[in-house]
Amino acid sequence: MRWEPARATAATPYEQLPLLTALGRGATNHCPACGVGRVFDGYLKVVPECAECGAPLGALRADDAPPYFTIFLVGHLLVPIVFWVETRWHPPMWLHMALWLPLFAIACTLILRPVKGAVVGWMLRLGFAGQEHHGGGLENVPPRPAQPPSGPAAPGPEGAARGPALAERDPAAPTW
Ligand SMILES: [Zn+2]
Repeated sequence: MRWEPARATAATPYEQLPLLTALGRGATNHCPACGVGRVFDGYLKVVPECAECGAPLGALRADDAPPYFTIFLVGHLLVPIVFWVETRWHPPMWLHMALWLPLFAIACTLILRPVKGAVVGWMLRLGFAGQEHHGGGLENVPPRPAQPPSGPAAPGPEGAARGPALAERDPAAPTW
């Protein structure tokens, strides 16, 4: 089965994966779309396309989301333990540092990759297909037509001033 982006806006997307399936596949380094191919080429580098189904995994830009979720998870996992150890034994600060800093680093290193895989799966599930970087980007926005200088004088009727501008809009132009 070849992966296909959901081109329809809402009615009939190609095949809507269950969210947990997409997250689980991504977290275990399996392509969220087919479950067979790999997500990562190396520790964190995402393959450009799934070798099995061709899903454009490399175009899914997870950006800062994986570090954010990783910090969130590791913090909630370890900070309570830090507080518990402090209140229970009151160890010296150097011992805290010697213990927790490496532990936080190791935990983040271990968790970052599955979290990033899950984020890639989540993005695919949400319908991201990399199109937001190829075709919908600012580089393709047509230049604005030259506006006549609008001085403070001649305040025309509200509707008349805005009507033609709306009518002249290129329907293919983005709507922001
Ligand atoms: Zn695949």
